[in-house]
Amino acid sequence: MTSNSKSNRRTFAIISHPDAGKTTLTEKLLLQGGAIHLAGEVKARGQARRARSDWMKIEQQRGISVTSSVMTFERDGITFNLLDTPGHEDFSEDTYRTLTAVDSAIMVIDAAKGIEPQTRKLFEVCRLRSVPIITFVNKVDREGRPLFELLDEIADMLALDVSPQMYPVGMGGQFEGILDYATGAIARPEGPSKEFKGKRDENAVVPEQFAEEAELARIGYPEFDLEAYRNGDLTPVYFGSALKNFGVTELIDAIAKFAPPPRPQPAGEEQISPDHDEVTGFIFKVQANMDPNHRDRIAFMRQVSGTFKRGMKLTPSGLGKPIAIHSPILFFAQDRELADTAEAGDIIGIPNHGTLRVGDTLSENNKIRFTGLPNFAPEILRRVQLKDPTKTKQLRKALDDLSEEGVIQVFYPELGANHIVGVVGQLQLEVLISRLSAEYKVEAALEAAPFATARWVKGSDEALQQFENFNRANLAKDRDGDMVFLAKSPWDVGYQEEKNPDLKFSATKER
Ligand code: GDP
Repeated sequence: MTSNSKSNRRTFAIISHPDAGKTTLTEKLLLQGGAIHLAGEVKARGQARRARSDWMKIEQQRGISVTSSVMTFERDGITFNLLDTPGHEDFSEDTYRTLTAVDSAIMVIDAAKGIEPQTRKLFEVCRLRSVPIITFVNKVDREGRPLFELLDEIADMLALDVSPQMYPVGMGGQFEGILDYATGAIARPEGPSKEFKGKRDENAVVPEQFAEEAELARIGYPEFDLEAYRNGDLTPVYFGSALKNFGVTELIDAIAKFAPPPRPQPAGEEQISPDHDEVTGFIFKVQANMDPNHRDRIAFMRQVSGTFKRGMKLTPSGLGKPIAIHSPILFFAQDRELADTAEAGDIIGIPNHGTLRVGDTLSENNKIRFTGLPNFAPEILRRVQLKDPTKTKQLRKALDDLSEEGVIQVFYPELGANHIVGVVGQLQLEVLISRLSAEYKVEAALEAAPFATARWVKGSDEALQQFENFNRANLAKDRDGDMVFLAKSPWDVGYQEEKNPDLKFSATKER
């Protein structure tokens, strides 16, 4: 890849509620894009070729599954990096952080269900960083909710302008095809059984019974505006069926055409642009070994600038001295064995033994620090109860490690000896208990803590001191030693905010 490749990378994620069709859509995107990580039916053919490559060896030797973390495919000269957001019922901070490493997102909505809770949560995370969103209304092959109802729901619930780019002609049983407003053509499912192979009908006329609605949908909503989309104020809406592979090509084309190339990333007061000479990046995810006999980890770096070359030395901000990156896992190259460079927007997997932490900046000159990779206020807080009290030290070490990895957040209360762990999803707690036992030989239980959420508190020394004097029982330090207010309820947060106008209570903390 040569110099202007920064403009041909599209690094994005798919956000959705479970069952909306993210997995199915991912598979279809990969297939249509002549994927490198081949999905589903063509897996066997790709297996032999992949087996030789470095990352596959790493997977086999160390039992680390990195396959689905980043999926890269190319189409018409554009390289797409699709970052996987784990699709559990539950949230993890992993999911949130992955969204800090993308330049845009596709929001998949089930046509019969509309905006669901998890879609909404993930959307809010995107909004925090003004990540632009393309909406894909999926499952139009089935009976869905009325079109206007869906469009209005997206607009109202997310406070976002919607701009339909297509019109599904008769969703569900009456489905005729999809009208593309830009070309006026209708893509039709083929054949008597309405198999969704898709055929373009250039001089299409929308059947009478739908014509008026199609026109109303077009004129009733804002026109597409590239700038508004890229600012995160407007979402273009596409319709299709991931299952029947319908509307997926249009969606890829939309990402290629509209989704932003790698964006500058904030580093304090500065913005580091992809053109910046030096190689820089930040770690947004650390995946630990599933095999307890090894302590190897893969850190995922989102490259922000420069041209990375295999063997290059980069300095992690958390370490302060350079490390040579000899066996990077490069996800983008068509032929993995030859992959030895990467560009801004690409993801590099770096095998390490715990030297790299989520939030670390890597750079050649060790001068830049990326900011804005947040910790999120936990929504579930638990007290850690040791079964064997002689293991206090091991527990502390384990909690520190696991919080560095981003599995949990740990809080050390000012009063009382028990550590408090905070997570945003139940699943993280299960992972915590099993890893404590398997990797640290620490048996622990989690007890309810009388706190509902936490806020980082900032202010002048004097104001903080005063606050501390009155609220010691509700205060803790996080692993960086910063003050955290453990609140009994959301109401409690509001009350303290009102009572302490000089202090700032924040639900996220940037590293
Ligand atoms: P995820 O949980 O979001 O990854 O959803 P999946 O991709 O696993 O899909 C959930 C279910 O919906 C599966 O049974 C899919 O076969 C089905 N599904 C996905 N896309 C479509 C679609 O376009 N039409 C229909 N009818 N079913 C779909």
